Amino acid sequence: MSLIEGRTGSWEIVIGLEVHAQVVSEAKLFSGASAAFGAEPNTHVSPVDAAFPGMLPVINRHCVEQAVRTGLGLEAQINMVSVFDRKNYFYADLPAGYQISQFTKPVVGEGKITLDMDDGSTREIGITRLHLEQDAGKSLHDQNPTMTYVDLNRAGVALMEIVSEPDLRTAEEAGAYLRKLRSILRYLGTCDGNMEEGSMRCDCNVSVRRPGDPFGTRCEIKNVNSVRFVMQAIEIEARRQVELIEDGGAVIQQTRLFDPNRGETRPMRSKEQAHDYRYFPDPDLLPLVLDPKMVEDLKRNLPELPDKKKARFIADYKLSPYDAGVLVDERITAEFFETVAKGRDPKIAANWVTGELFGTLNREGLGIEQSPVSAQALGELLDLMGDGTLSGKLAKDVFAAMVKTGKAPAEIVEEQGLRQVTDTGAIESSIDAVMAANADKVAEYRSGKDKLFGFFVGQVMKATQGKANPGVVNDILRKKLAG
Ligand code: ADP
Ligand code: MG
Repeated sequence: MSLIEGRTGSWEIVIGLEVHAQVVSEAKLFSGASAAFGAEPNTHVSPVDAAFPGMLPVINRHCVEQAVRTGLGLEAQINMVSVFDRKNYFYADLPAGYQISQFTKPVVGEGKITLDMDDGSTREIGITRLHLEQDAGKSLHDQNPTMTYVDLNRAGVALMEIVSEPDLRTAEEAGAYLRKLRSILRYLGTCDGNMEEGSMRCDCNVSVRRPGDPFGTRCEIKNVNSVRFVMQAIEIEARRQVELIEDGGAVIQQTRLFDPNRGETRPMRSKEQAHDYRYFPDPDLLPLVLDPKMVEDLKRNLPELPDKKKARFIADYKLSPYDAGVLVDERITAEFFETVAKGRDPKIAANWVTGELFGTLNREGLGIEQSPVSAQALGELLDLMGDGTLSGKLAKDVFAAMVKTGKAPAEIVEEQGLRQVTDTGAIESSIDAVMAANADKVAEYRSGKDKLFGFFVGQVMKATQGKANPGVVNDILRKKLAG
């Protein structure tokens, strides 16, 4: 466990995260307007989103299904009856004067997320709830020197708010939690997890305490938009609280903002200034009653999720937990690997995917879906190694050429004449030549200087431009040197 060492002793950090995840959906939660990102301002707005008088919200079935699927993916309780409430507050980007959300009766109740820690252990983090709610519009302060503009494209877009229990204890755990949650959401296809575009945003609740003491007073850091910033904000906020308490002060419950440029959190509003949202059930919407058969169907058709896939990769392919974890992080990477591994040595397949392929993708700044080498082609390359056509060294050269040209490995082998030499006759004559040119070394070797063996192998490989099969070279060389 990593504690903060203060002036007066150790402190433990307590963290609970509230994640807003935008539901992958064509239309908004209660209107038919498009939910697509990046359109011209105010082009995706229906009279419902603009809160024209007399407009009625109609629930989007697809969004409900996505929330239920997410709940199932988090192994959570699905509430067969849930209620939409009005959360009342005034703001220019909220034309109705209230947000439709769920308060006392959310669609999804308690669940959990399993974290894989660096030391190979796992930690279970409780999910308190998941509820559906609308997003607000956006105020644009930089379009005009004296006025603020409002863009309602986002108003009414469906969000899932996923709330964790205060179970996290370090910034690293919070980072691991967010990455795991994002991975699950992407597998399910219920949220694209894109934090830069704001389709996943995080509020961090942070408090500190002496180990073993009851929870301390927390502060909430609003709308942090990357995993790295979440981790930084938690560290910085926890240190601020420790210093404050050690100086004789007390933490007051507050909403704060993280400023990554200055490396500090700043107060936004305190509990006394907090909104009284006057929640009440939305009279325009009936309680949401789920059909048990629909929930059953969604459950049956859930994809294999990262934890299960990882366990299967370890059991079936005998991969290390680390390799398996890396390969299952994204569904598409796992599929790529399984295509390469099919009918081949899985360990070698894993090494090539996580080594050569990931290295290339990182260097070129590409995602695996843009990989210049397909899973099919990488598999063919491994086959050329398997049947002795290519040595490991030559295979790496061919791989580099595949990345450059997009050609099939067999074609590159033909074109460049890279075929590994397994012909014993050819190898024998080049060994003879090397021995003749190094008669002194041969004598030294024969008088007991075994270490020279590597030198001879190197010379033969050099003479054959790396194409000789190293196994064959070793065998013949050993015999000939023995005299
Ligand atoms: P609110 O209704 O004010 O948002 P909640 O009880 O729903 O408060 O908690 C919101 C988040 O704060 C949850 O993620 C929860 O785990 C976290 N949390 C609650 N108490 C603490 C605490 N003492 N320290 C850190 N996080 C906390
Ligand atoms: Mg809250």
